[in-house]
Parts: sequence; structure tokens; C-alpha cells
Amino acid sequence: MLSLRSNPGFEIASSACGLLAMTNKTKSLFSLAQKYIPSGVNSPVRAFKAVGGAPVFIRKGKSPFLWDESGKKYIDFCMSWGALIFGHSPAGLIQTLRREIEYGTSFGAATQKEVKLAREINSFFPSMEKIRLVSSGTEAVMSAIRLARGFTGRKKILKIDGGYHGHADSLLVKAGSGAATFGIPDSAGVPDELARLTLSIPFNDMNALEKVFKKEGRNLAAFILEPVPANMGVILPKAGYLEAARKLTKKYGALLIFDEVITGFRISRGGAQQSFGIQPDLTTLGKILGGGLPIAAFGGRSKIMDQLAPAGPVYQAGTLSGNPMAVTAALWMLQALKSRDFDSLSRHAVGLTAGLRKWIRENDLPLCVNAMGSMFTLFFTHGPVTDYASAKKSDTERYAKFFHAALKAGIYLAPSQFEANFISSAHTPAQLKSTLRIFQKILGRN
Ligand SMILES: *Cc1c(COP(=O)(O)O)cnc(C)c1O
Repeated sequence: MLSLRSNPGFEIASSACGLLAMTNKTKSLFSLAQKYIPSGVNSPVRAFKAVGGAPVFIRKGKSPFLWDESGKKYIDFCMSWGALIFGHSPAGLIQTLRREIEYGTSFGAATQKEVKLAREINSFFPSMEKIRLVSSGTEAVMSAIRLARGFTGRKKILKIDGGYHGHADSLLVKAGSGAATFGIPDSAGVPDELARLTLSIPFNDMNALEKVFKKEGRNLAAFILEPVPANMGVILPKAGYLEAARKLTKKYGALLIFDEVITGFRISRGGAQQSFGIQPDLTTLGKILGGGLPIAAFGGRSKIMDQLAPAGPVYQAGTLSGNPMAVTAALWMLQALKSRDFDSLSRHAVGLTAGLRKWIRENDLPLCVNAMGSMFTLFFTHGPVTDYASAKKSDTERYAKFFHAALKAGIYLAPSQFEANFISSAHTPAQLKSTLRIFQKILGRN
């Protein structure tokens, strides 16, 4: 069995669920936060509810490191949920933003930089012939869904169980990420009438896919999925699944939307669509695009995108869309993605995930590592984890204990079993090696 309980260093953290380790400052911050902010946080998973204890309040980040308000230093594997592929506050980005802010914070009018950015995004994602910039992944997805409905004149959309696409009403049906973490994949406040228009099928299940298209294909505006789901933990597509999704959507006249908010610029420069060689009709991007500033994008075939207002009948807008600071950050990120050795990032990430797998195998631990490139999830189940149902078999209590033991040892992981962890180019091979050693110590031997 997993020797978590017999590890003496671990016992302290687990019994107190991190509370003992918390300084008075964090404690008082958290109670003040709860007074003015629901659950004390501005996004649910941050509250640490899934792993117990009080959340860490972050003061600053540099390279792979975070410092909390009490001065404790962590090596970060959450990386702002994958946004920070070059680590925290890269010097070049900070300098560029400093210079740019002198020109102003927002104009609500067209700028040259937006044109440049759209063109750059197109060079990374040729399937995005035209692009609109928005301020969050949620907004990108919400806009893409409205556009798909407007373009096809159809109402229903198809998603996968445990797929997370932000918190737009239509997508909070069998949703992953925080929604899955807290057991509210179907949110209160979403009218049944609307939720009924969202169909959901298990990922990687070819039969379910064919069946739903046979029955509902002509009513579907779109099939939206993360081509490599990362919001129920990382799950890899089975050979032929994405191809089948492409074929069936085409056959029935539904749009294929790849939500690449996480996978875009992550599993390859051109996202999953480049890695798997599949062209979706629409793509959504976020996270890495802005390097930590609020920007996201959606785009696709010109014929579809031209349905957007003012030329077309599908309304979509934003006061801060194409915000100059966020656009400046995105231009810097894309430049850095082009000029740096992208493949070395995946290569050194493999040192950690392969090392973890080896340890699990040698010690016959009931764990399983799913990884692609620089993102990974350690599932507390034998696996294999191939869909939401198998991900849900994870022992979330064990995950919580692992999380807190790691936190105590100065490793900041995603505070939920159903999330991905991210390695950045700022994590050195030596840091990854010492992280592996700490993981091994916490997990113990069988
Ligand atoms: C994070 C995420 C979103 C939502 O993006 P926000 O910026 O949090 O609104 C949408 N889709 C996927 C795949 C994501 O990982």
C-alpha cells in the first residue's frame, strides 16, 4: 500500500491539513477575505476546498518560484493554470510592459498591435484565418458557441463529459475543472431549457460518438472539445478519435471547435491541431497567449468568422478586447515561442514524468501518470485513465494528502486531483530532479 501514513514528516501536514503550517498572517488574511469575497477567492479551486486547509496567499513570482505572504518559497507547478510557459515574470516581458504602459492603458479603439497579433496568431494556427481577441477563455468559448449556432442555424452543441470550457452557461453541463472538483458539473442558475441543448458524451468512446451523430448530427451546431483534455486531469486521445470527430462533424454539417486554451502553444507551438494534424473549423486560445495578462482569442475559417458583427448577424463585443497591455504581452509571448527551443521544454519535462512512472512501476503503487509534453497529472488510481469515469476513480483523499505534503516541502501543485500540472522553461533539470526526489519520498515504497 501507499505509505503516505507511515511517513513521519507527512503526518504533521496531513493531520492539520496544512493549518498548522499556516502563519497567523495567512490565517487573518483568509478570514478577512471570506468576509468580503465569497469563500475568500475569485475562482473556486483557489479556495483549496478540494484538498482541505486554507489557501496560500501569493505575494510574488519569479521564474519557477512563488513566495507567499508569509515569505515561504515554493517551486510552482500550477503556473497560473498553465499560462506561464516561460515561468513567472520573465525579464523581457516585464521590461516590455513597463515601456508600453507609458502609452496608456486602454483606448477602446483599433490599434496597430492588434493587427500584428492577429497575423502572428494566424502564423501559429493557420486554421484561424480570422481572429477576434477577447479577455478570457470563457469569453472566447462563449463567443465561438454563439457563432457556431448563428452560422449553422442549429441550437444543440456536443461536448465531452468532464470537458471544461470556462463558465459560460451552455458549457456548465458535465463540466470538468473546478466544477468537477466540487461535484457541481451542472451548475445551479443554468436554465434546464438551455442545459438540454448541450449534449455530452464520454471522451475516447468511438461508439458513443457515432451514435450521437447518427441521432443528433443534423441538430448539432458544434462539437466542442479540448483535443487533449486537461481539465479532468490530463487525458490523451486514443488513436483515431480526433480524426473521427473531424469526419463526423463534416459529414453532418456541424462545426468542430478545438478548445486549445490549454493545449495551444503548449503541446506544440501550433497546439494539438498541429500535433495531430487535424484542422478544426474554430479554435479558442487563452492562458499561454497572454503570459499572465487577461487575453484570449477565437478564430477559424473566414466564412464563419465573417458572420460576426458588424458585417454579420452574430453579435460579439468587448470594452477591453484587444487591450494594449494584454496585446503587448501576447506579442512578446509569441516572439519568445518562436525564438526559443520549444522541444527542449518537453524533453526536460519527461525527466520528471518518466522518473515518476518508473518509481510507481518499481514500487507497484496504485498511481498513474498521464502526460503530454510539459503538462501532467498524477492520478491516485491504478488507471488507465482514459475518460472522466476512469479519472473519477481517483482517491481524492490521497491526492489531498499528497498535495499538502508537497506544499509543506515547498512544492505548489494544482489544488485538485482533476487538474493538470505544468512545467515551464524556467524549471531547471536540477530542480525537476529534486522535485522527483521529494515526490518519491512522499509517495514512499510499497
Ligand atoms: C481555462 C480554460 C478555459 C477558460 O478560460 P478562462 O480564462 O479561465 O475563462 C476554457 N477552456 C479551457 C480548455 C480551459 O482550460
